[in-house]
Amino acid sequence: MPNCPKCGNKEAIPTRSYNVIVEPAKGERGMTERRVGMYTCGKCGTKFPTVISKQRYLIVAEEQLKSIQDELESVKKGSEDLNTKVQGMVQQQREMESSMVRTAKENDVKRLQAKLAELEEFVRYLRKEKGELEQKASRLR
Ligand SMILES: [Zn+2]
Repeated sequence: MPNCPKCGNKEAIPTRSYNVIVEPAKGERGMTERRVGMYTCGKCGTKFPTVISKQRYLIVAEEQLKSIQDELESVKKGSEDLNTKVQGMVQQQREMESSMVRTAKENDVKRLQAKLAELEEFVRYLRKEKGELEQKASRLR
């Protein structure tokens, strides 16, 4: 809300508004479009303009703009492809993790089976020893 430059009264609504195109200053590029509002102070009647908004325009050759848009499109496409690849990799990682868990379990089972075979072997050995000892003992009686 602009203030009246004379009495400081705040004015909310411009009596009229218009657009002005401003040529670039030296060393500047592009044009600036300004929306200017004309206000009339409700207290003292002073008329004063205020810039409501600004929009800058750069002048770009049509082919250049087209090539920028094409490039942007291909960057967007590339980023979508990348996202899809990343999602695929995450999925693969999950599958690998679960297969690793499975393999670990299988290895546990194999290790336990080997241990069981070892124990069975040892039991057989002990039985044999026992038998031999019993024979010796019977001979000694
Ligand atoms: Zn005023």
